[in-house]
Amino acid sequence: MKTIKDHYNRPIISLRITITNRCNLNCLYCHHDGMIKSKDEMTPDEIYEICKISKEFGVKKIRLSGGEPLIRKDIVEIVEKISSLDFDDISITTNGTLLTDYAKQLKKVGLKRVNISLDTLDSETYKFITKKDYLNKVKKGILKAINVGLFPVKINMVLMKGINENEVNDMFEFCRKHGIILQLIELVESENCDDKFISKYHYNLNTIEEHLSEIADNIETRKFMQDRKKYFINGGEIEIVKSMDNTDFCKNCTRIRLTPDGKIKPCLLRNNNLVEIVSYIRKGNDENVLKDQFRKGITNRKPYYLEK
Ligand code: SAM
Repeated sequence: MKTIKDHYNRPIISLRITITNRCNLNCLYCHHDGMIKSKDEMTPDEIYEICKISKEFGVKKIRLSGGEPLIRKDIVEIVEKISSLDFDDISITTNGTLLTDYAKQLKKVGLKRVNISLDTLDSETYKFITKKDYLNKVKKGILKAINVGLFPVKINMVLMKGINENEVNDMFEFCRKHGIILQLIELVESENCDDKFISKYHYNLNTIEEHLSEIADNIETRKFMQDRKKYFINGGEIEIVKSMDNTDFCKNCTRIRLTPDGKIKPCLLRNNNLVEIVSYIRKGNDENVLKDQFRKGITNRKPYYLEK
């Protein structure tokens, strides 16, 4: 199927599914979008059904996220079901705390790769950010993911002023040593992280980017991935993810989202244009109605930051 485009000529290449918003960490910057009970979360069959519809619109990649996706007891079944639809890519964004338990089974049922969120290699800073003492668990999980052949493994590091901005070199060395790609992520506003929080902790990634462009052996731009820059340095790889006030981020956004209670979320930064889909499955509507809902989700897409 040819990939469908929205009204801004952006192809819809990937679907990011928040399969739960429950989490076993309590990160100081996290959204904690209105908690829903596990019994109200989408079932593996409902997730499968929506992925199937998305495939018919030409979606090529599925990413599972959360909350913490590996906290769901049926995570292996979910991945297995999606995998049977033969997407080009299935990935998970995880905090890594449960990867030692699940990496092997997930790889076996079709997971291709993982992004692991890790902001620090210092155990006290880790406890400060997540309120848990799981740093060693996460490190073991990272190595397990590599060992079972999930590839590429990426580390998501949210940079915060006065907390971890001085750890970029150490984290990059850790990543380089293990063949991991490092993604440096700009801290953005969320419900738990208001103006005051942002002005205290927001770290402008431009300074780091300038430095990286001076020392990089090569630089690439990821065209369909929000125009992100990739820096190749000394055999290692760093990617920069800046979404605040970034018109390129929006112009090149090819991702649609699904909330844990089964609504299509056309834009990362908006919550006022969600479109029901799981409730339509639960009411027994047929595939054509579900397709109409999916199409509405695409129609509702509008860049949050538009070029003036
Ligand atoms: N629990 C999983 C994890 O830790 O990767 C998946 C969910 S988590 C919300 C997904 C990613 O969003 C993580 O890499 C996290 O660091 C990032 N994130 C959460 N809140 C953020 C914020 N306010 N600004 C930037 N990134 C944020």
